[in-house]
Amino acid sequence: MLHTDTSVPAGPSTAAVHAGEARQKPGFAITDPIFAASTYTFASTQSIIDFIEQDQPREEYGRYGNPGERVVERKLAALEGGEEAVLFASGMGALVGLLMAHLNAGDEIVFFDECYHRSREFCRKHLTRFGVGFREVPTCDYAAMEAAITPRTKFIVSESPTNPHLSVVDIERFADIGRRRGVLSLIDATLCTPFNLRPLEAGVDFVLHSATKYLGGHNDLLAGVVVGSLEKLAPVRQLRGIMGGINSPHNAYLLERGLKTLALRMERHNANGLAVARFLESHPRVERVLYPGLESHPFHAVAARTMRGCGGLVTFFIKDADWRQTAAVIDAVRIPRIGPSLGGVESLIEQPLVMSYWNYTPAERAAFRIPDNMIRLACGIEDSGDLVADLAQALG
Ligand SMILES: *Cc1c(COP(=O)(O)O)cnc(C)c1O
Repeated sequence: MLHTDTSVPAGPSTAAVHAGEARQKPGFAITDPIFAASTYTFASTQSIIDFIEQDQPREEYGRYGNPGERVVERKLAALEGGEEAVLFASGMGALVGLLMAHLNAGDEIVFFDECYHRSREFCRKHLTRFGVGFREVPTCDYAAMEAAITPRTKFIVSESPTNPHLSVVDIERFADIGRRRGVLSLIDATLCTPFNLRPLEAGVDFVLHSATKYLGGHNDLLAGVVVGSLEKLAPVRQLRGIMGGINSPHNAYLLERGLKTLALRMERHNANGLAVARFLESHPRVERVLYPGLESHPFHAVAARTMRGCGGLVTFFIKDADWRQTAAVIDAVRIPRIGPSLGGVESLIEQPLVMSYWNYTPAERAAFRIPDNMIRLACGIEDSGDLVADLAQALG
């Protein structure tokens, strides 16, 4: 069977199309079927006993797995170069499942502080209720991360690139801290995808994605995944069977279909992100652009060394604009749709102040570094010339 063995070397485009799938499928179909089943039956009492005693690879009850999501898990494991992947119903489901499976009362967890605010909220508000300690240190301050690690620390966590500031973590340095200090390391790689960066190769223990974004890629599903070693993911799979945060067979098929074009889409997201960032940087109404592919970005060197491309997310600031003048630029664009999320074929634009921080005090916004004139543009896969022309008219 071609590429169902995750050790088979294959480029990202080939892996996206073929990995994880059986060569021959039911009905001689080229595509995988959607088995719309909540339960799976046995021919006899003896076949149940054989299933249990021989640990046979088949389905039993839908909360523990379905054939379609297993295909997606194998495909994602192959794309990341990992042994195992566990799929969840959302990115947050994956994060909660991973941390709950590995942390005990008395353990501590250290985050870089630009990580997704809901991830940190889960730790700060909820894990602490179970006696897990939570610390945050400034993003990419490796000395601060080392200093925050105590004998009780079990996990270090970062995203890369971060959102919306697009800081790029030196993945080898991060993995090295985990290895030397004997703590598990986790990278939320939602913004880079395995096309642009493969954190497991650098020695990180777990890679997590909101598959809602680039992996699904069409703004039509929610899903999440954790990739790593079989051994370290065994308790995560077990807990998922209890939590129930699994994808339906229909959702898993949508994700499988979306993943087929991951490499093609990422090439375009990378190209559009760079073209739009370069245009914005040259525009007189734009004060500053954050995009790791630009030489002006503080983490450009790390990005150039470690990433194939920098994705579609571009953050920029309108010169001398208050929040209303910034909103007027957003309201004037015609191609990007106004809304949260990123990574789909349709470009999305938003003002973080309004979309995510409206109920925060000015002091809190300053602490999060969310100024009133900040715009986040998630470039889709439209023609870059059209996106640039649209931004030019909106700024003009
Ligand atoms: C969207 C997102 C999440 C949460 O994923 P959901 O699928 O919305 O639960 C986590 N991390 C990052 C970086 C994200 O962009």
